[in-house]
Formats: sequence, C-alpha cells, structure tokens
Amino acid sequence: MQQDNTVFDLINKELDRQRNGIELIASENFASLPVIKAMGTVLTNKYAEGYPGKRYYGGCEIVDEIETLAIDRLKKIFNLSWANVQPHSGAQANAAVFFAALNPGDKIMGLNLSMGGHLTHGSPVNFSGKHYQVISYGVVKETGLVDYEDLEAKALAEKPKMIICGASAYSRDWDYARIRAVADKVGALVMADIAHPAGLIAAGLLNDPFEHCHIVTSTTHKTLRGPRGGIIMLRNDFENPWGHKDPKGNTRTMSQLLDLAVFPGMQGGPLEHIIAAKAVSFGEILSDDWKTYGQQIIANAQAMAKAFVDKGYKLISDGTDNHLMLIDLRNKNLTGKKAQETLDKAHITLNKNAVPFDDKSPFVTSGIRVGVPAVTTRGMKEADVTQVAALIDKVLMNIDDENVIASVKEEVKAFMQQFPLYPELS
Ligand code: PLP
Repeated sequence: MQQDNTVFDLINKELDRQRNGIELIASENFASLPVIKAMGTVLTNKYAEGYPGKRYYGGCEIVDEIETLAIDRLKKIFNLSWANVQPHSGAQANAAVFFAALNPGDKIMGLNLSMGGHLTHGSPVNFSGKHYQVISYGVVKETGLVDYEDLEAKALAEKPKMIICGASAYSRDWDYARIRAVADKVGALVMADIAHPAGLIAAGLLNDPFEHCHIVTSTTHKTLRGPRGGIIMLRNDFENPWGHKDPKGNTRTMSQLLDLAVFPGMQGGPLEHIIAAKAVSFGEILSDDWKTYGQQIIANAQAMAKAFVDKGYKLISDGTDNHLMLIDLRNKNLTGKKAQETLDKAHITLNKNAVPFDDKSPFVTSGIRVGVPAVTTRGMKEADVTQVAALIDKVLMNIDDENVIASVKEEVKAFMQQFPLYPELS
C-alpha cells in the first residue's frame, strides 16, 4: 500500500517544528522513541473489551500480558495495590472516578479553574460542573498558595462528598495530609489528580499523595513522559463509604467500581497500543536514571524562575517547587495572549494562562505558564534554561519589533542544534 504523503509530509513538518523550537508548555514532553514505536504497532488492530483474563473477545492472550505488565510496573512505581491503565485521557480517568464514587448531583470541591485548577475539577463547561454541585476553593491573593483555611471553612459548611486536589497551573507542592484531615471531618473522599507532577512524585521528589488520598489519577504524557493517556491508582482498596453498588445491586470495593466505571461505564475497547507504550514508559520510570531526570527538572525550573525574577518578572507564589512557573505580566504591561503569540513567532512555545484574581478574560489573560519537562528531556541544564529566559525576555521587551523577533527565531534554531531530538528519525 502506498504511503499517504499528504499526511506524512505534515508529520515531518511537525517533527521539524519540534526540533527547531523551544518547547515550554508545562503539560508537554518528548516521549522516547521506544514509547512512540509501541504506539505505532499492530496492537491498534485488537479489540479487548474487559480486563486481562476477563475479555469479551478471543485472541487476547498477548494483549493480556501487555496490559498486565503495564499494571504491574505502575503498581511498582507508586507502591499500589491496584491500578487501571485503560483511560484514554486524564479527563476520562477523572470522569471514571466521579462515576464510581459519586451520584449525579453530589457535591464536590476542587481548585477553581481560574486559580490553576483543571476543567474536570468542577468547571461549569465540563461534565464535572454540569452534573455535580461544585464548591470551589482558591489561593491566597498575597501568597498565591492554596487557601487551606478557606478550603476547610467551605468543606465544614458544605459537606462535599469528594475533595479534589491537584492542578494544571500551580507551582507549589500540596499539603495532602491537611486536605485529608479536613475530608475526615466531613466524611469526604479525597481524590488527587497528579497529572502535572506525577513524574516528580514517582522520583520521590515531592510529597506522596498516596499516603493521604483515597484515589489518585494522572495523565501519562506530562512529567511521566509516556504516551497520551490516563491512569487511575489506589494504594489501598476500600469500601465505598456511600455503599455504591454495581449494576446488579452487588456491593463492590472501590477498585471494582472504578474498573466498572472505565469499562463498560465509560469506554469500549481499550487502546492496547497505547497501553503497550504506557508499559514501555513505566519501564523507563523504573530505571536508575529517572530520579536524575526529576532532579534536573526541578533544578531547571528553579534556575529559570530565578532568571525571570532577576529580570523583574513577578512569579505567582514567588517561585516553584515543581516543573512549572506562572508569570504575571501585568507589571510589564503585557497580556498573556500577546506574549504567547509573539513568542510563537520566535519558535518559543508556551501558553497564556490566567493568574489568580485575573482582571482579564481567559482568552486574553494576564499571565503565561512556563514548564521545563520537555527542554529537560532534550538535555538542557541550569545555564541553558537561564539563556532561554533571556531569549524570552528579549522578545517580550521588543514585543512589536519584527526584526528582533526574527533574529531571536534564528538564535533559537541555532541554540537547539545542541539538543538533538529523535536523531534516529530522518
Ligand atoms: N488533570 C490535570 C490536572 C490536567 O492538567 C489535565 C490536562 O492538562 C488533565 C487532567 C486532562 O488530561 P487530558 O488532556 O489527557 O484529558
């Protein structure tokens, strides 16, 4: 069969874009070639509804081995008793938790989207906000840190059934123990969505959510550096406090309810080629190099944060504990939108982001979110990311000067030659 050049030419153009640019989107990374190879395999042909050993189709003996390997490796990384590796995305992993643990109309608490939370933590435009009652908590205006006192006061007053911690744009670690203590006072479950910092938690460099949270979800493609997808994890299984039953009326443990919520509750056939890629990436995380990678991410984020502060930028919470930082551009008279669009022209990719208590719309925003997992994968160290901050500053301080922007674009291209990306690909 002939190759579809129209599509493959575009794929090659995207490879060039990734190679020649500086990737600072905090939720992106570069999966290894073995991870990418596993995705492009004959496993995509296989239907395997169900779980290993309990499928609705024949011929599943090989994919059973693959999925079991992925589950076992994930259990080893985070010391789990149970995991589900089938969710097609982080949003679906979160939806499965809602379906397993709650009834429509139940009350939940999550970090406000405008303060760094995720759509699936109760935004009115998402299933989580449409079908559940949402009480949002926020961050303290002066410090940018999660307002645990506000969270506790709201939880005591509103008695939610589930409190969600985790975020998409929060640069500090979480006090999971404190949230669990609040949840215990009102009988709520705690769900941690560790999509962003999961790779750093796997490296043992941030607080361990599994010690305190009943259910933990993540994506696999951010700091975990795997294929695009989701996972659900339990360190300890437990009975659902509200006595949820399966469709036949039988009482089930939370792990059983979560399995049922993913399939048949929400998804059909699992993507076994993606699950194979998850298994490959989990193998990488179990390697000796992973801790070094995590340490370098944090060192890079802190070096870059310092470089921005030295140039007079205002960072929310004044710094970072993890892989990202949120910069408030108002003292530089810039919007997030303008900054993102202009940096894009210089082949520096990041995203505009609302800052807490933003006075601009989500389409404009006052801030940018900057993350270092992808450039760390490419081999950058502290001195390199300091140089990247200087390039960003050069663009932002010459925001309407097309000549400066064009010259930075050339600088970026030359700079990135030191950090080859997928050299095995032509
Ligand atoms: N949870 C958090 C905290 C996220 O930041 C994201 C994505 O950015 C998701 C969930 C959703 O992941 P996905 O895009 O795979 O649905």
